[in-house]
Amino acid sequence: ESVVHWFKCDIRITDNKGLYLASAEAEKHRIPLICMYLISPQDFEAHLTAPVRVDFILRNLRVLKHDLAQLKIPLHVEVVDKRRSIPSRLMELCNIWGAKHVFCNIEYEVDELRRETALVRACSGQGISFSAIADRCVVEPGRLTNSSGAPLRVYSPWHRRWCAYLNQHPSELDPFPVPKMNPANTGDTYPDLFRCEIPQAPRSKWLSEQDRAKFSVMWPAGEHEARDRLSRFLQERADEYQNARNIPSANGTSVLSPHLAAGTLAARTVVREAREASPNQKLTDDRKQGHSRWIGELAFRDFYTSILCYWPYICMNKPLKLEYSNIEWEDNMDHFKKWTDGRTGFPIVDAAMRQLAHTGYMHNRCRMMAASFLAKDLLIDWRMGEKWFMEHLIDGDFASNNGGWGFSASCGADPQPYFRIFNPLLQSDKFDAQGDYIRKWVPELADIQDRKGIHDPYGQGYARVAETNGYPKPMVDHQQSRERALLRYKAGLGRS
Ligand code: FAD
Repeated sequence: ESVVHWFKCDIRITDNKGLYLASAEAEKHRIPLICMYLISPQDFEAHLTAPVRVDFILRNLRVLKHDLAQLKIPLHVEVVDKRRSIPSRLMELCNIWGAKHVFCNIEYEVDELRRETALVRACSGQGISFSAIADRCVVEPGRLTNSSGAPLRVYSPWHRRWCAYLNQHPSELDPFPVPKMNPANTGDTYPDLFRCEIPQAPRSKWLSEQDRAKFSVMWPAGEHEARDRLSRFLQERADEYQNARNIPSANGTSVLSPHLAAGTLAARTVVREAREASPNQKLTDDRKQGHSRWIGELAFRDFYTSILCYWPYICMNKPLKLEYSNIEWEDNMDHFKKWTDGRTGFPIVDAAMRQLAHTGYMHNRCRMMAASFLAKDLLIDWRMGEKWFMEHLIDGDFASNNGGWGFSASCGADPQPYFRIFNPLLQSDKFDAQGDYIRKWVPELADIQDRKGIHDPYGQGYARVAETNGYPKPMVDHQQSRERALLRYKAGLGRS
């Protein structure tokens, strides 16, 4: 007999609710705990998982395997070619291992929930209990509603309730202990499982040798690294977060999103430690204090997950605000390519897109600017941008990415009307005032020291430098494209 924990987006042993419950169950019955991770190439394809993210997942699994082995717990990792056969393969493994109870942490996207529903049925047919545990969010989706019990889709009132709930229920932030060394896991029972190797990335997600080497230095894997990064951020930078968070060149944010997406760090751990490090040790919606502001940003992750749970049709290419379904988009692949290549002629947008291509990451302010530029200035369907981001982000997360795109294209969880349109030149001047971020990612403009010229070389007397270095002219006139977007959005709303 055994108990199984199935790892998904929770690649850690620390503060992992599902894993903890599985280990407690194994301990109670004095039977082995077996862990597994199933690699599904079809899911990677269907969900557009970026190769850099797949590589990060696999490297995290190596650390996890090692950490579990220290506790004499095996981690079985295998590739399941057809995603439809995941439930049947899981059942086969349960039969081989004599599993009586399977634990996992819930993933809330529609495909995943359907798969888990199939598993509940399959397990109950064989007398195996299946527990899907709510661990992804700090406050479980569904808990926070307005006073009449309806779900909220405006962030500020939702966030106030989120803080109040956690202040009233502080134990929700208590950590779940690391599994104990289980005497039933002798290592002799399943020696093959201890020997099992972590497979290579599926072919379609391969990185070049050079990129693999680059990313393993740029993005060290594993939960130890994640916790170190968290401690460093809380000690060194959280105090100033409210001032530095919008400056892409300032190193003012935590860059913990790859770890939160892979689950090498629990959101609960992050909020608990940030609250403990904060001056008043309470959760508040104070936007002027660094820790509170940072916890508030982290709460966005819960917020967008809650949106996904209440309005799951966002998984089917529909905007949250359905009345925005009829906007007539420009079908211009040449423009889309200029945007993806970082050759729009708007230096801040190009810097952002090149940061993404080079690192698999983009600063939040730049994500908003790049997304707004695609949806509003180019009037290209925001879903194409959403997909492009997923295909390239190391922290790609459906709920947060969809939420960010919905916000930027004015059809998501945002009370503002569609006429908020970012001016890329003003945004650039405000948030990259010295042009350091642009100079870093757009080397063609690196020699321009002028504060105005760096944001708008063709408009501010630096056309020759830009031209000589092969930097393109702006592909659109912002004022004209703004007017066009306003008309097109208005017409689209009129059609719904
Ligand atoms: P910090 O500022 O240090 O924040 C800490 C953590 O809070 C982040 O790691 C993240 O988990 C969470 N967080 C912060 N801001 C947000 C937000 N607006 N929405 C949701 N969670 C947030 N975030 C992702 O994790 N995955 C995505 O695929 C993703 N796509 C985005 C697409 C667009 C168009 C936009 C505008 C935003 C997107 N975000 C996404 C949110 C945000 O940009 C990143 O979470 C943030 O830049 C990560 O950097 P950080 O860890 O330094 O953030």
